[in-house]
Amino acid sequence: MTLLLYQTDSYLKDFAAAVTAVDPENHAIALDRSAFYPGGGGQPSDRGWLSAGDTRYTVLRARKIGSQVFHYLQADQPLPPEGAQLVGGLDWDLRYSLMRTHTAMHILCGVIFRDYGASVTGGEIEPLKGRMDFEFETMHKDLVQTIEAAINQEVARARPVHVRILPRAEAFQIPDLIRTKINLLPEGIQEVRVVEISGLDLQADGGTHVNNTAEVGALRVVDYKSKGKINKRIYLELENQG
Ligand SMILES: [Zn+2]
Repeated sequence: MTLLLYQTDSYLKDFAAAVTAVDPENHAIALDRSAFYPGGGGQPSDRGWLSAGDTRYTVLRARKIGSQVFHYLQADQPLPPEGAQLVGGLDWDLRYSLMRTHTAMHILCGVIFRDYGASVTGGEIEPLKGRMDFEFETMHKDLVQTIEAAINQEVARARPVHVRILPRAEAFQIPDLIRTKINLLPEGIQEVRVVEISGLDLQADGGTHVNNTAEVGALRVVDYKSKGKINKRIYLELENQG
């Protein structure tokens, strides 16, 4: 089992861990703890490095299989053995871009639900851009501009973002969570991770987020399109803060 360090501290960039499993076929190793986000919920996996002494391994991606996070290493590097003690670090530019973008998507969800009562049906996050689909009958230029102004206002309000891990029964009593797909969570899951943008949005979510909406920066709605009668897609972009 891998302890998911990113779940409780999304700003953790470096960590120490031990190899708990080796998968030579896929050139991957599992660790007892990891700060690497293994992908999921529309957010791509982290990249970065692991090292043992002078040996440095490039981590191309991570993936959660069962209760373990596997780290896929560059093919021309030998695999460290089970039990090896490593230190690791994230490609922080990539991760922080994804954190800002993920929180931006939740701002958009929160605003669209608050102002129009529309639920999200899907989405995808890339560094500094993303798209999100909503149950929306019509979308037009004026409406898009109104939405863009409203989401930037939520950035300017500098709302705190709180991440909590709650017992299942407690999470199921939060009315805001009912509109998300919490009721689809498998029976076996006893804890629910909840990401709340204070006063705006609350979701069951496994991703990594910034601590405050101010960190997201200026947002632009760069495109929108119809994906069916009651499905509209909105494309967002963030500013590169260098
Ligand atoms: Zn999310």
